[in-house]
Amino acid sequence: MLRSTLLAASRSGAIRGLVERTPLTRPVVKRFISGDDVDAAIATTGEVLADGRLVTLDHLGEDTRDAAQATATVDAYLELLRRLETAGYADRAEVSVKLSAVGQFLPVDGEKIALENARRICAAAGVVGTTVTLDMEDHTTTDSTLGILRELRVDFPWVGAVLQAYLKRTEQDCRDLAHAGSRVRLCKGAYQEPASVAFQDKAEVDLSYVRCLKVLMAGEGYPMVASHDPRLIAIAADLASGRAKDSYEFQMLYGIRPEEQRRIAAEGNRMRVYLPYGDEWYGYFMRRLAERPANVAFFLRALVSR
Ligand code: FAD
Repeated sequence: MLRSTLLAASRSGAIRGLVERTPLTRPVVKRFISGDDVDAAIATTGEVLADGRLVTLDHLGEDTRDAAQATATVDAYLELLRRLETAGYADRAEVSVKLSAVGQFLPVDGEKIALENARRICAAAGVVGTTVTLDMEDHTTTDSTLGILRELRVDFPWVGAVLQAYLKRTEQDCRDLAHAGSRVRLCKGAYQEPASVAFQDKAEVDLSYVRCLKVLMAGEGYPMVASHDPRLIAIAADLASGRAKDSYEFQMLYGIRPEEQRRIAAEGNRMRVYLPYGDEWYGYFMRRLAERPANVAFFLRALVSR
């Protein structure tokens, strides 16, 4: 109930204005977001890399209906990639891109524009020697995103994508993408989805996650285990026991279970932190609140204690 309310709020312009205008929100947002600009993102990247973790950076923003905004997002990624190279981080830090931030929802030629914009980001990533992973948004975008992934991989075979275990289609998508050279970030899924396409029960989502993991770990691709769930991490480690340590990785979000992130990295595993930055933090922040009721309490406590 709380989850659906927060996820509905994550797409409400009126509530967005209210949450964003409250200055007291800021300290809570900081737990999940590196900072407003590329300087903050580069500084936090350095801190995360220093203890042996890897990074994927997300320039925040989504659902843009404005072509100029989509172009500005591409420019922000190009600047970020240059800065990663200058700092000497491009071998350990990649970028994650939401296609809806680079034009997928534009009313005219949205998919075509998103593909061209994503292509520019991939070309720049290739030049500095890093990779790009396409985030996955709600289920209405899955076919479009996987279609764009296929097109991008013709020129940039290292482009990865996210699959969401809560979608009933995902086990088959994993089979389709478990081939050599493919990079799949498997997560549970963070959006509000109808029962016609998505498992609603947490236990069913977890079972689906394990089925998908089995497919990816048995395949020839590069599985990226994106979860904070201790049971799923243990199962993933078990399924990966026959694989080389550099043929898969664990991933978690910035600000969530950082000690566990360090522990996993210290055991010689590849552990990547998803690091968002920028001032368009509202949708991302609300999804983090929705994932865990305790976050809402934490948020409210921070508000009333000031
Ligand atoms: P859960 O069962 O939700 O959580 C397990 C435990 O982790 C909790 O008990 C708690 O201890 C901790 N935890 C989980 N979430 C939080 C939180 N918000 N705050 C504090 N503690 C928490 N979703 C998409 O739909 N599309 C994407 O492209 C996408 N990309 C992602 C990339 C990465 C690297 C990661 C890690 C997640 C991504 N997600 C994405 C989000 C994902 O779908 C889940 O919503 C999120 O990871 C929570 O699921 P969980 O597997 O951690 O399990």
